[in-house]
Amino acid sequence: MRLSQSFFPTLKEIPSDAQIPSHQLMMRAGLMRPLAAGIYSFLPLGFRVLQKIMNIIREEMNAIGGQEFHLPALNPIELWEETGRVKAFGDILFQIKNRPLVLAPTHEEIICHIAKNHIKSYKELPQIWYQIQTKFRNEPRPRSGVLRGRQFTMKDAYSLDYTWEGLDKSYALHEEAYKKIFTRCGLKFFIVGASSGAMGGSGSQEFLLESAEGGEDSAVVCDNCGYAANLEVAVSNAPRVERLPESKKREQLFTPNIKTIKQLSEFLRVETTRLAKSLVYNVAGKPTLILMCGTDQLNEAKLMRELGGEFRAYSDEELFDLTGADAGSIGPIGLKNFQIIADKRLEQSNELISGANKNDFHIAHIDLERDISVSKYADLRIVETGELCTHCGKELRIINAIELGHIFKLGTKYADAMHATVLNEEGKELPIIMGSYGIGVERIAACHIEQNHDVNGIIWDKALAPFLVHLISVNAENENVIVASNKLYEQLTSEKIEVIFDDRVGVSPGFKFKDADLLGMPLQLIVGDRNLKQGNVEIKIRKTGERTILPVEKAYDFIAKF
Ligand SMILES: [Zn+2]
Repeated sequence: MRLSQSFFPTLKEIPSDAQIPSHQLMMRAGLMRPLAAGIYSFLPLGFRVLQKIMNIIREEMNAIGGQEFHLPALNPIELWEETGRVKAFGDILFQIKNRPLVLAPTHEEIICHIAKNHIKSYKELPQIWYQIQTKFRNEPRPRSGVLRGRQFTMKDAYSLDYTWEGLDKSYALHEEAYKKIFTRCGLKFFIVGASSGAMGGSGSQEFLLESAEGGEDSAVVCDNCGYAANLEVAVSNAPRVERLPESKKREQLFTPNIKTIKQLSEFLRVETTRLAKSLVYNVAGKPTLILMCGTDQLNEAKLMRELGGEFRAYSDEELFDLTGADAGSIGPIGLKNFQIIADKRLEQSNELISGANKNDFHIAHIDLERDISVSKYADLRIVETGELCTHCGKELRIINAIELGHIFKLGTKYADAMHATVLNEEGKELPIIMGSYGIGVERIAACHIEQNHDVNGIIWDKALAPFLVHLISVNAENENVIVASNKLYEQLTSEKIEVIFDDRVGVSPGFKFKDADLLGMPLQLIVGDRNLKQGNVEIKIRKTGERTILPVEKAYDFIAKF
């Protein structure tokens, strides 16, 4: 492609609304332009990248037996009502104003609908169905460029089985395919166990990419043994609070105006681990006190799993009515009709201090074994940086991460709601067991840029680069340069090497080099007057900056070898 005849609007300045490198560079390099909040037009260079990503995905999905579909983005709303997901998605689901239709954010309902109508026997299973298609989500605050947009391209795949072993197998196939896809796209990723959230189902894993600036998920990683988990489910080896040999008699302490654990620790001159923090929630109508150790933070996702359902906080008035005190002075002693759940770190501990359920008072020398009936000890805390790995004992790190893909064992949730069944050998109806597997296509491009850029621009990997070679005719007014670079362009293109050719006249060499670094093709083939006089051209490897001067006729071999 000749730049003189191409549409590639680059920007010198960073757009003011672009906060993270991938967003800035996708705009500056002219890969895309915004149309409205969270909606982008992909321009020719950007779309070439998306096509390369889609081809890699297609190859790996086909390799595990996936069959490609193209399902409608417009879905009848009643299918979504059957599974209760109009309500579950809420405002995220785009609804059409003048027809009972929605713009699909994912396609479990449609897949299940097709399976229900056309698959009758267990003999027709397993199936793996996928598509690469536009999805819609009404993000309340679109940001970070394509990482959180309202319209995006997704590869969504679905497995259909009639046994749980079959589901495990389909799931494992996708896990392997995903590893290959992300590796081929040149991404350094890791896999974490995650909670299934709004999708429902029995198990799920996320493929994440570390990104300090672009990350919207948090994950805990161990650099030593490779343990990685979503912060919602991560565990660590936080030590238990030691049980001291003697439990003293309980004592009430006057603690005027003390509201926080830190203030209390300073006021009483005791370690924060001896201070038991009390949180009160309404769990299915029952007041529940959660005891946490010192400054530990409650992990609400873990608590929700322990409780097996929703809970809510009380208002200040409700709290006072239930306990006789305000939030900073609540404790486990003397509460009536409460269930008490405590974090594992506090198991069997004594000599604790907690609120007295009387403002400005605390109680010392609490022994959980002697004084309180704890209905359950559970891991309820958020893991913090520097805590030790439960597998190898080395320090854990908390990182920001971007989600690249997510795989779910859905089970029979959708088949049950939509009555999608097959007949087994004995003629008995069995629900179809589903898995669902997603990858964001634009996300891969953005994540690749997050991991591969420098101050000058993008550094594309061969696999995703819009073009392999950026051919620059340094002085396009010079006859020798024109002839030589045209010849190279013809030669490389006829050998099916993808070349973008900066043949612009009247553009300074400095400007052309800047553009080449910004666009980030893996190789720059530089044809300049000075080298050409010796019969040479220069090749620069964008990633390393390494430059090689070699005879014109050797350029093709160098590039072909690369
Ligand atoms: Zn470890």
